[in-house]
Amino acid sequence: MSVLNQQDMQFYYGHVYPYKPIYQWLNRSFSDNGTRNMINREIAIEFKTGAYGRYFSFPTLKLFKEKMTNDIPNRFEIGAIYSSPPKKKDSVLKNSMKPLEKELVFDIDMDDYDGYRTCCSGAQICGKCWKFIEIAIKVMNITLVEDFGFEEFFWVFSGRRGAHCWVSDTRSCLMNDLQRRNVLDYLNVVKDRDIEKKIGMIHRPLHPFIERSLTILKQDFVDIILREQDPWRDDEQAIKTLLAGFYDKNLISHCKKYWLENPGRSSEVKWCDIDFIAARALTYGKKPEYIEKLKHCKEDLILKTLYPKFDIEVTKQMIHLLKAPFCIHPKTLNVCVPIMTHNKGQDLQGFSIQDFDPTECPKLNDLINAMSENGMDISTTNLRPYVELFNKFTQTYVKGQVSVKREHENPLDF
Ligand code: ZN
Repeated sequence: MSVLNQQDMQFYYGHVYPYKPIYQWLNRSFSDNGTRNMINREIAIEFKTGAYGRYFSFPTLKLFKEKMTNDIPNRFEIGAIYSSPPKKKDSVLKNSMKPLEKELVFDIDMDDYDGYRTCCSGAQICGKCWKFIEIAIKVMNITLVEDFGFEEFFWVFSGRRGAHCWVSDTRSCLMNDLQRRNVLDYLNVVKDRDIEKKIGMIHRPLHPFIERSLTILKQDFVDIILREQDPWRDDEQAIKTLLAGFYDKNLISHCKKYWLENPGRSSEVKWCDIDFIAARALTYGKKPEYIEKLKHCKEDLILKTLYPKFDIEVTKQMIHLLKAPFCIHPKTLNVCVPIMTHNKGQDLQGFSIQDFDPTECPKLNDLINAMSENGMDISTTNLRPYVELFNKFTQTYVKGQVSVKREHENPLDF
């Protein structure tokens, strides 16, 4: 159930939503054809009635803003750039309405980590479990830059318990569906999310990118999984989901027996028990090839718990829609704020991921209260740094498109 208050939403879309940088980003020119931009971009709208409309498009910032301030949508989503304006969909030949470009997008949600988080459940989230998303972002950033050479991307808090990545390089936007699936095939290391099922052994030797990701994840695994979340202190859970990662039936039955006789050992201790039991109770447990295989099983478990898990449907099709940055999440009232940007020649900007706390994200009702007290001044609200971050990101596009001096513009002028 949405808890959106229509008056608040009217205020938000009338006075707060940063249309200008969003428009500048969506309206940027691509290298091969400067005309295919916002005018041909699909915007889908969930109206306040709950009805959902696709194939809206807006040739100007003014019309875009007018539509949103008049309709006060629950949210709106961003789709592909088509060969003709999407709003003319019913009046042009099907062949003239082909999707041509869209950002390469990724959606990472806390749901997929539920088997390993003990601090919260369901829709709840706290600083501890947000670390799952932070780690996923950390691994993804390195991969996007080093393996794909992408330079323009940003991450947005999805408003409740996940994050969206928008890779905006021209090269990523021009990818067809097959290429998007190929990117996913490369990135989507943990395909099976069933935590009680044995994971198929990841092929050895590991691909250098998996090896690199594993090196990043190893320390976090000790701190976050074994010590902080401690999901395997629960013996039943350890038998079901920790031992599921191993292939030796004798080892599994020895560990199971030992843990049932010595209940409540921590995840960290159980993790060490496995090596200890293998070496002591199994005659073959000291053979180098056995130790090597045990190490591989443990590495696979580290990847299974912490490696980024994607909602693959969001990534694999160019025409897939994704909620626009700065929309309001209907249940939490959080603003879906950008939390990190990466741009050509710049390091990661704005909030270091460790600095973002989803429980302190700007909320619609707090913003309304703050602005009604300070004379409608958004610059003193906690939304300001997020708008500034996004403004800075879009300045590249502004400089590319407009020759007039923009340096002295108010960064909050939207
Ligand atoms: Zn939590």
